[in-house]
Parts: sequence; C-alpha cells; structure tokens
Amino acid sequence: MIEARGLEKRYGDKVAVHDLSFTARPGVVTGFLGPNGAGKSTTMRMILGLDRPTRGEVLVNGRRYRDAAAPMHEVGVMLEARAIHTGRSAAKHLLALARTHGIGRRRVDEVIDLVGLREVARKRAGGFSLGMGQRLGIASALLGDPATLILDEPVNGLDPDGIRWIRDLLRDLAAQGRTVFLSSHLMSEMAMTATHLVVVGRGRLITETTVAEVIASA
Ligand code: ADP
Ligand code: ADP
Repeated sequence: MIEARGLEKRYGDKVAVHDLSFTARPGVVTGFLGPNGAGKSTTMRMILGLDRPTRGEVLVNGRRYRDAAAPMHEVGVMLEARAIHTGRSAAKHLLALARTHGIGRRRVDEVIDLVGLREVARKRAGGFSLGMGQRLGIASALLGDPATLILDEPVNGLDPDGIRWIRDLLRDLAAQGRTVFLSSHLMSEMAMTATHLVVVGRGRLITETTVAEVIASA
C-alpha cells in the first residue's frame, strides 16, 4: 500500500510536486500517469525515501522510509531502466544482487522463471534487448518477494506483445495481494497495463480514476 498525503517537493523556487495525495492499494495495478516533467520521478523518489518531502508524507505499507531504508521484502523497485553494462550473465547478475541483500539462490531461480528469463539466463545481460532488460529489472525488483512493487516506466519502448506479457505478470502479482505501482507518460500503455490510475500534471493531482472509467467516458 502507498499513501501519499499532502506531498510536496521544492527545489529552490521550483515546485516539482505540490499538495499531492493519493492511495495505491494492494490487489490492484495502479498506474501513475503524467507527461514528462509532471513530477512522477520526484514522487517515486520520495516514496522510496531517496528524496525527502518538503512537506507532507508518504507511507509505504504503513511506514515512512528514510534514506532508501525500505527492505527488499517490503518494497521492490525498478527505477528508470538503464542498459546494464555487464559481461555477467543475467543469472550471475541476479545472484550477486541477491547475495548483497542476504537472499538465497532458490529465490533467484524463482524470479528467473517468474519473469520468463530462463532461456537467456546464462547469456550476457549487457547484450539484452530492451524487453529482456525490462524483465531483468523486474526480476531484480522481485528478489525480495516484496509486498509493494514500484516500477518506473516498465514497458517503455516495448512492443504490444512485450507489454501484454508484462501486464499479465503484474496482474498476477497484484492478484496475490501485492501493491503494484507503475509510471508511464502514455495513456495507451496505461490502458494496457493498469486498472487504477493516478493522473498528475505539473506536480499536481489531476484525478484518481480507473482505466475503465476513462475508456467509458472517451
Ligand atoms: P517526471 O518524472 O514526471 O518527468 P520529474 O519528477 O522528473 O517529472 O520532474 C518534475 C519537475 O521537477 C520538472 O520540472 C523537473 O525539471 C523538476 N526537477 C526534478 N528534479 C529536480 C532537481 N533535482 N532540481 C531541480 N528541479 C528538478
Ligand atoms: P547500491 O549500492 O547501488 O545503492 P543497493 O544495495 O542500495 O545498491 O541497491 C541494490 C538494488 O536494490 C538496486 O537495484 C536498487 O534498485 C534496489 N533498491 C534500492 N533501494 C531499495 C529499496 N528501498 N527497496 C528495495 N530495493 C531497493
């Protein structure tokens, strides 16, 4: 669960996020939609405790995190997917990450299967296609079997098949009782992946609605 209450972030005179309140609930896939510059990344950083709000607060699973202190079983994160420059295989990359967080090899195997990376798990992760890179990012976020999953632009640049694949995965994860929160600047991507929507513009909440509602009123 993510509960933002009167969240605000200023950078000097610049107001990046203003009086933002919304809730992302367990069991649903909530999309965080807004154009570039709307304040999505800033909000996600505050959710994760990577940035401190100027005002207001955001609770994750009922707690406030500071200095990125959320343990991996509480919060799984994929921030804006960057190409991974590594000579390591995907499996080794995940194993190294798991080891850092005291997570066992069995869970690494599980997440490889969950995201459909089994066939390429021994290939060099640095040479992955965009879609495989996104899956690897989601696999990393899932290592701790988190109650809340936060994904920044997880389907950016994927083709419709790739998007559908990730949609099905996210819906399964939500159906198991997780909170799934993902950002995008494209309504078309949200229509394919999310069921609930938090729409922002210029750092402000525009509406909290559902994809079905938006489609019905279009
Ligand atoms: P989005 O992720 O929706 O594209 P951001 O959260 O990145 O939006 O940015 C929201 C606004 O805050 C933008 O106008 C951006 O220029 C500004 N901003 C973000 N980070 C900083 C920063 N570190 N210093 C100054 N302004 C920033
Ligand atoms: P780094 O040394 O790069 O900061 P960390 O051990 O902090 O490494 O993070 C390793 C991985 O854990 C990264 O992929 C990051 O996205 C993820 N991560 C960072 N903060 C959190 C968090 N609060 N909860 C869950 N995962 C996180």
